[in-house]
Order: sequence, then C-alpha cells, then structure tokens
Amino acid sequence: MDELRYQTTLLSTKSQQLTNEGKMLRLICDTSSSAFLYVNFERNCVEVLANWNEFFPEIEIKEIKDMNRLCLEVEGQYAPVLRKLLFLEDSNDDSGSGIMRLKDGKTWVECEVSIIYDEEKNPSEKVIRFKNVSKFQSQNDELTYMAYYDVLTGLYNRNYFVRLLADFVRRAEEENSVVAVMFVDIDDFRKINDGLGIIVGDEIVQQFGQFLGDFNNENVVVSHFNADIYCIAIYDPCGSRSVEYIYQAIREKIRHPFLLSTRQEVGISVSVGVAEYPEAAKTTLELINCAEIVMFKAKGSGKNSIQYFDAPILNDFLQNVSIENKLKEAVFNRNFTMNFQPQYYVTDKKLRGVEALIRWRDTDGRMISPAVFIPIAEKNGAIVPIGTWVIEESIKTFAQWKRKYPVDMILSLNISAIQYKQSEFITNIIHIIEKYDVDPEEIELEITESILIDSFKEVTEKLCILRDYGIRISLDDFGTGYSSLSYLKRLPIDTLKIDKSFVDAMLTDDNARIITDSIIYMVKKLGFETIAEGVETEEQFEYLKSIECDCIQGFLLGKPLPEDDIEKILEKVS
Ligand code: C2E
Ligand code: CA
Ligand code: CA
Repeated sequence: MDELRYQTTLLSTKSQQLTNEGKMLRLICDTSSSAFLYVNFERNCVEVLANWNEFFPEIEIKEIKDMNRLCLEVEGQYAPVLRKLLFLEDSNDDSGSGIMRLKDGKTWVECEVSIIYDEEKNPSEKVIRFKNVSKFQSQNDELTYMAYYDVLTGLYNRNYFVRLLADFVRRAEEENSVVAVMFVDIDDFRKINDGLGIIVGDEIVQQFGQFLGDFNNENVVVSHFNADIYCIAIYDPCGSRSVEYIYQAIREKIRHPFLLSTRQEVGISVSVGVAEYPEAAKTTLELINCAEIVMFKAKGSGKNSIQYFDAPILNDFLQNVSIENKLKEAVFNRNFTMNFQPQYYVTDKKLRGVEALIRWRDTDGRMISPAVFIPIAEKNGAIVPIGTWVIEESIKTFAQWKRKYPVDMILSLNISAIQYKQSEFITNIIHIIEKYDVDPEEIELEITESILIDSFKEVTEKLCILRDYGIRISLDDFGTGYSSLSYLKRLPIDTLKIDKSFVDAMLTDDNARIITDSIIYMVKKLGFETIAEGVETEEQFEYLKSIECDCIQGFLLGKPLPEDDIEKILEKVS
C-alpha cells in the first residue's frame, strides 16, 4: 500500500512538471509487473496500463461504469469486495486493498487503490493496481495447512484436534450422546529412536499415522499429538467406529512389522487409554487428560494393552501427584529417616548384616511407603538427591556402629537404576566411603535387573569398577524382572536376593518350589551367595535351609528397625 501511495504521490508531483499525461503514467507502470487502471473523475475516463492483458485480456474499459465488468472476472464471493474497491472514493480508508481469486481458480490478485485529491479535497484521479500474489497465497495455504495438520503424518495436529473434539463435546451435550477419546502411545518408542535412529522412528510414526488416518470420517477425528502419541476422538462410538473395533483393527495391524523404505522390518506395540464424555470428564482437556492417565496405567501393567477409564485409576494418579508435590518438600527438608533390617546366615543364624531401608513420615504424621514414593521419585528425578542422602546417612550410622561394636557385618544399600546411571555415582560413593573411613568390602549395593535395560557392557563395566574397589554387588528382587539365568553368569555380582514372591509361594505352589530350588542350585553353582527375602515362617526357613540357601531376611528373624534398636542387637552379638 505504501509503495502505491508513494508512486501516486510521485505521479501527482510529476503531473505538475510534465505536460504529457500518458508519458507520466507510463513512468509508474513501465517498471511494474502489475496491471493498472487510471481513473480520471473529471473527464470520466479510464485508462488501462502496464500488464493489463496478462490479467484481463478480454476486458475493455473506457468509462468508469465499464469497471463493473471486472467484477465478473473474480470468483463470486470476491465480487462485492472488488466492487467496493473499484468505486472507493477515499483511499485513506483501511479497506483500500483486498485479495481475491480470479475465475481461473488459480490466480490470486491483490487489488490496491490510491486516490489523488484536488485542492478542495475532492477525489480527482485514482489509480487501481492489480498485483499477482498467487505465490504468496500458496505460501499462506501452507501456513494454513500447518495450523491444522501435522506435516509428518498428514493427520490433524494437536491444536486442531482439541477444537474438533470441543465440537463433538458440544454436539454430545445437545444430543445427549457420548464422545470417546482414545489416547494411543507406541510402546518403548525411545528405544526405537535411540536404537534405530530418528529417521526410522519418524517413518514408523508416519506409517502408523497413515493407517490410523483411515478411520477419519465425520464422526471420527484422528490426530497426531506429538512424537509417538496419537489421539482419536469418536462421536457416538458404535459399530465400526466403536473403541473396541478400532482397537482390534490396530492390534491386527501391528501383528505384522512395518516394512520401511530401508527394507528394515520393525514391529511395534501400543498402549491405549480410553476416556468418555460424559462419564470420565465434561470438558475437552479433562477428557484428553483422563485418557492419557489411563494410558499410563496400561503402560504400567505391561504395555501392549488397552485401559478404560475408571475412577480409582484417576484417584491413584491424583494421590501420586500430591505425593510428588510433597516429595519435593520432603527432599528439601530431609524429612526422611533410615531403618535397617537384619540379615542372617541360615546355618547358624549369625548376623550377616543389615539392609538400609528409607522411611518417610509425612507432615501429617502418616508413613508413606518407599514402595509408593520411590517409583515417583524415580520418575521425577528426586531419587538422585534422596539416594545420595540414603548413602551418606547409612554409611555414617554404619561407621559409628563399627567404631562401637567389633562385629563383622555388611551394610546393604538399595540403589535405583536412575541413581546408578549418574556419571558421578561411583566417585560420590567412594568419596562417602572414604569420608567415614569404612571398609568398602563391608558395603554392598543392591541393584535390580532394571539397570540392565541400558547397554549391558556399560553397566557391567561400572559394576567392575565398583567391585575392583572392593564394594560388593547384590542383585535384588531376582525373579521379578527379566529373570534370565543365562545372563547371570556374565554379571559381576556377589549375591543374589530371591524375591519374596517365591518365598511366599514355594510351599504351596509346585512350580514356585521347583523354580526356587533350581535358582538356588544354579546360583550356588555360579559361585554367588543367596539371600531369601521376606521369610515370615519357621516352615519357610526350614525349607530354605534344606535347599541350602545361604542367608535369610524377613519378619521371622527381624523387621526393619531404627538405628537404636539395631544397636541393641549389635550389643548382644558383639
Ligand atoms: P526391597 O529392596 O525388596 O526391600 C525389602 C522390602 O521388603 C522392605 O520393604 C521390607 O520392609 C520388606 N520386607 C522384609 N521382610 C519382609 C517380610 O518378612 N514380610 C513382608 N511383608 N515384607 C518384608 P520397604 O522397606 O517397604 O521397601 C520397599 C521397597 O522400597 C524396597 O524393596 C526397595 O525397592 C525400595 N526402597 C526402600 N528403601 C530404599 C532406598 O533407600 N533406596 C531405594 N532406591 N529404594 C528403596
Ligand atoms: Ca533391597
Ligand atoms: Ca528385594
């Protein structure tokens, strides 16, 4: 607009200098790829200039009223806009320009108007410029596309999905109907991305997205939320648009691996959470949140499954959120204490050592179990400061005991996989051992099979460094994770702890007994020490003794106790 105004002003100035009007107008037009209409109100004449034929080859305009013909050259909906511009008498009006499409359906033109006024401030002349803006318009289309769609999959994007879901919810409100939201998340996508590269990851997201896109119709909206997450909204789910139907189709699809452009075949599984309006939530965002929360529940219960919303899941989640918030405060204020549970040798019931177990009393006096808050702390990273505190606090106490009582014993510390992964883990623990001057051979780290999710080589290299320093390594909860005896022999460990679930079941369930027997037999052959956890009865103790399990830990011989109570035990045995 400014450019045109400038040219028009130029025209006006030049008009005073030049006598030949045609020459003057050409001055503006020659440099332009646009088409111009020059209107002279006083003489009621109109002249077309510059690239007129490129825009309107058939249209001849001689008088002002002929300009009406131009309105037939643009698509119907733009005709009123153009008419207004053509007959506009005040170009300071903001609406002095407009963009419209010609009847050919392809060419977009911008029409701009500038008016020259006489001394009495009446319009005397007018210049109308038509400029081809098709190129900019297609860029604009791209921007519009990106505002609604996800470029990778061609599905609706998150923002637009939320709007469409809101429409469904509004409609369901009016029609007393139901809207289902399916939150679909590819399992272990990080592993695909890390292991096979993000290009492979993207192609899987794309192929799976295209498959899901086939469900799109007026009652089903499929979107790509982000990364490996898709969200599907279904209005009045039933028949071939029921959640179950779509879920079964997904299961059928992922039974076979995706064939990628690299000719690689990659299989996936997905976890799905489902929440319905009005049962789960009344608003769009709450619905999506609920579906996401139950999707996490599906992930937590072994992935590759579907989970429908129900209130207890939401309550658990909300409780976890509140624990998470309180946890931050507890970490800050160090609101934890340590308990220690004794471990004994089976043959002579001599004290082997103690396992350090954290305790958290909430500000309202309620005890929160580590089985509840440790997994939350692992998710939000609080486990790192908590774990460091546990190590220092326990080793400090242990060092005091050792100075007071001449007892041979081991201090076992639970180490979370997240904590173990920290690059400074080894230097930290060695620093604490040296600070309190304890014998590294009396310190044992309990790790779980979950640390083996990462590179076996890296994990075992770290274990070797710790063992070379003298620290003992114990594999905790054996039997609950991967439970592969084959990797055991490659693992640099000293002790293996048989999970309580085997101890619980071994006397009543033949399979559990056979497994417990063979674990202990094999593990002893590999040269590791065995500790059975959660021994509660004399019968369990006797049975474990008969199959030559080395040590036991459990309520039968001792519960987790505070520092002072452990001192009483130490007094007795020293
Ligand atoms: P865990 O390492 O398997 O610890 C043994 C758990 O079994 C302890 O529960 C202990 O109190 C319980 N237990 C021992 N004997 C018996 C028994 O005879 N019967 C029954 N019913 N239970 C028995 P706790 O202290 O509630 O700890 C739960 C879990 O929380 C631990 O399981 C461990 O995974 C984690 N945890 C506890 N303290 C720490 C810590 O300082 N750091 C980390 N990373 N994790 C910890
Ligand atoms: Ca343990
Ligand atoms: Ca355990």
